[in-house]
Amino acid sequence: MAVVIGVLRETAANETRVAVVPEIATKLKALGARVLVEHGAGVAAHFPDTAYGDAELTGAATILANADILLKVQPPSLSEVNALKPGTVVVGYMQAYARPELVAALRDRSITSFSMELVPRISRAQSMDALSSQAAVAGYKAVLLAANALEKFLPMLTTAAGTIRPASVLVIGAGVAGLQAIATARRLGAVVEAYDVRSATKEQVKSLGAKFIETGVSADGAGGYARELTPEEKQKQQEVLDARIAASDAVISTASVPGRAAPRIIAKSAVERMKPGSVIVDIAAEQGGNCELTQAGETVIHGGVKILGPLNIPASLPYHASEMYSRNLFNLIKPALPKGELAIDWSDEVFAGAVLTHDGQIKHETTRKALEERTS
Ligand code: NAD
Repeated sequence: MAVVIGVLRETAANETRVAVVPEIATKLKALGARVLVEHGAGVAAHFPDTAYGDAELTGAATILANADILLKVQPPSLSEVNALKPGTVVVGYMQAYARPELVAALRDRSITSFSMELVPRISRAQSMDALSSQAAVAGYKAVLLAANALEKFLPMLTTAAGTIRPASVLVIGAGVAGLQAIATARRLGAVVEAYDVRSATKEQVKSLGAKFIETGVSADGAGGYARELTPEEKQKQQEVLDARIAASDAVISTASVPGRAAPRIIAKSAVERMKPGSVIVDIAAEQGGNCELTQAGETVIHGGVKILGPLNIPASLPYHASEMYSRNLFNLIKPALPKGELAIDWSDEVFAGAVLTHDGQIKHETTRKALEERTS
């Protein structure tokens, strides 16, 4: 029997992406799967039902009752989990740290869940890495938000009415989102400088035509990520950065440390040194923000400086964000579908690393411990 893959219309507030775009529905069918797509699932991302020629369009109840694999963007709701057959595989963002009741339901219903946040960041898994693909979308869009809020030109213009100086853009955090922000700001003609605590970013920043800010602090942590700074390092970093923040027309802040609140890098006092009309786009708003004044989901105006704290930025570019996310999902599950049947190789470090629940157990240790602490 062909494996049944289900795709629901996302129901979370402001979610416009779809887990499977038509191109990937076709590829899943070619692997031997039946693909059931909920009516209207892709509409918000501009993939109409008519584009899903290789899928069967149906209602959510049929999908939940029949799916062997359910592909999602946002975590499934409790009622969705309760409607699944035991043993169903669910793949999507799971937000396990914030959703203990969901994790418990997945365990109790014997659902095999894979969390896109847990996909190991190893070279082989780059094509499955939704954190990276969606961060690239966020970095790009953050610059457009900044350009729009700035009320100034970004590029240098030489006109009959004189020369306009280019805007200066500072990118804090040069990971996946930050590098995409640098490239985008450069394409728009801004003068760009950037900063990151990881020393490896220096060459990457320079290769994109931006200036790297030297603060004398580097904090390379495990797995290619940053570690948290000591108070002395923070102070040293701050003195240099505050002066650069004050000189910038736009700041795009993307700094993040896995599993922790976003580092506070832009103090209220630094904002007060910026020129009126300047803009901060804090894409770390979801993790508490890099700027002291950031309000998640809001635009704050302080002394004439606009501080944007956008949430779920990829959902504001749903067509391409869905396309990229959907390809990540496909690359992840394809090895589990040899001959169109479900067969997960648990010795594969990608599946072993990304699994959240399986066979009535919470397999991800940090999540299991956090749940045990809550319930003890
Ligand atoms: P992230 O979203 O966790 O962090 C964003 C950036 O913030 C990072 O570059 C980090 O160094 C920086 N940062 C943290 N604290 C800071 C501070 N106090 N001041 C300034 N900057 C600070 O990271 P990410 O973008 O998801 O990934 C970071 C890196 O991990 C990538 O650039 C890459 O080298 C590596 N990576 C590898 C793979 C893979 O091999 N599959 C996939 C993705 C990322």
